[in-house]
Amino acid sequence: MNYDDYKQARDLSWRVLLDTGTRELPVKVSRICGAYGVTLRSYQAGAPLIRALGLEAQCGASDGFSVRSGGRCYVFYNIEQPPGRVRFTIAHELGHILLGHLGDGEHTVYNREPSPEDAPEEHTANVFASRLLAPACVLHALGAVTPERIAAVCDISLAAARFRAGRMGVLDQRGKYGASPLERQVLAQFQPYIDRVKSGQ
Ligand SMILES: [Zn+2]
Repeated sequence: MNYDDYKQARDLSWRVLLDTGTRELPVKVSRICGAYGVTLRSYQAGAPLIRALGLEAQCGASDGFSVRSGGRCYVFYNIEQPPGRVRFTIAHELGHILLGHLGDGEHTVYNREPSPEDAPEEHTANVFASRLLAPACVLHALGAVTPERIAAVCDISLAAARFRAGRMGVLDQRGKYGASPLERQVLAQFQPYIDRVKSGQ
């Protein structure tokens, strides 16, 4: 993934937090999908829609997928994954939609644990998802830096939280928090929540 793609996905995660007025963790992914007019359904609840789109085979192949069809966008997911994983799956698919990876009539093919062989678009969707669900500036301000604490505060899997904790260690070393005006706006939007958590209310 080149730096421009990384930066685009990262900045988009901040913009989405700002535009949707998200002020607390854990981030509500269903509300965010709704704010962008994206129809969100589990495989079970979405079965008639999935059939109408002719995509039944996708359900067996993937933990989640997204579709752009007839001017509408859909995210479908397997509800039988652990809850933290479901949230990451949804955020990842929303990333594909908002980053413009899908043309009309197109759908994503798979959604799985990240691997180095993944296509660049998979990496950027993961950058978007991890930063949407676990914004580093907010975690830093909360003092939530261990994988266990990040997983609990953000309601994500421990595996995803470990990635995030590793990345935050790098940011800490560089003293890189709040370098972007967008990130500072995100932090300001979450400040009342941060103050509440820190005062133990
Ligand atoms: Zn993907």
